[in-house]
Amino acid sequence: MDKLIDLHCDTIWRLMEAGENATLENNPFCVNLKEMRRADTMAQFFACFVDMQWFQEENKFEEGYQYVKKMIERLRKEVEHFSDKIAFAKSGKEIEENREEGKISAILTVEEGGILNNKIERIEELRNEGIRLMTVLWNYENCIGYPNSKNAEIMAKGLKPFGFEVIERMNDVGMLIDVSHLSDGGFWDILQTSRVPVVASHSNARALCPHPRNMTDDMIRGLGEKGGVIGVNFYPPFIRESGKATAKNIVSHIQHIANVGGMESVCIGTDFDGFIGEEGEIGKVGQINILYEELKRAKFTEKQIEKIWRGNAMRVIKEVI
Ligand SMILES: [Zn+2]
Repeated sequence: MDKLIDLHCDTIWRLMEAGENATLENNPFCVNLKEMRRADTMAQFFACFVDMQWFQEENKFEEGYQYVKKMIERLRKEVEHFSDKIAFAKSGKEIEENREEGKISAILTVEEGGILNNKIERIEELRNEGIRLMTVLWNYENCIGYPNSKNAEIMAKGLKPFGFEVIERMNDVGMLIDVSHLSDGGFWDILQTSRVPVVASHSNARALCPHPRNMTDDMIRGLGEKGGVIGVNFYPPFIRESGKATAKNIVSHIQHIANVGGMESVCIGTDFDGFIGEEGEIGKVGQINILYEELKRAKFTEKQIEKIWRGNAMRVIKEVI
């Protein structure tokens, strides 16, 4: 096994739901400290994910913002409690320093830019709280833009004026821009606007699995040319249209993204705890060695696997945050 960087999990959401009944060390989820040690995780990105339907319609974006702060607080409590095993990282250098001390790095992210609620100064506030990546929207329209959709008209829609401001400010403060979940039109606007590489933290190839959450070959190529990375997602419906999603199927997406976007464009973004792990062959992050072995079997070299496992992600982290 090899040191892993995973660009996306929804484990904070699960911890919030479980309340006092779970900790980062002891929980039945796909990601916990035991599983991460088994996976030899170097850095795990933890999303503060909010579904706007959880909140009252009139005040949902403000309530969402407050809930994200509570999620940050929850992970902070967990990291403090298990500070011998895990520490926050806010840069590539800090990830390496934590590793030298034998600790896993936790990186905070936000999944739903709607919580900005048209307040540009919130980007800096979130960065001061430790947030280093923002998925600009989830599956609903927000102040930044429009979501991925089976409706071609929505899918073609680009960023809103505030969305362009957000991209500039994220570039200024040093926060990774995540295009997963976004409409195709919004993706192209961001690719043209951002001064630095962008990431699709948890998306796959649409050529292999025609889900609107996945990326077309043109998008993969464009993102790769700009130096960005795509974290391959383990959620079965994004891997294959039907049947159990195997590690071999995930290798096909990795192979395809590498062929189209270049070997520098592919990394890992499991999406664990955003879905029930048992739906696929790799049920928990500690079982990710199944994918590692499958990559070797598919004749990826050690150097290539190192890039997929952490090198590509680390390059973009160091360049942007
Ligand atoms: Zn997501």
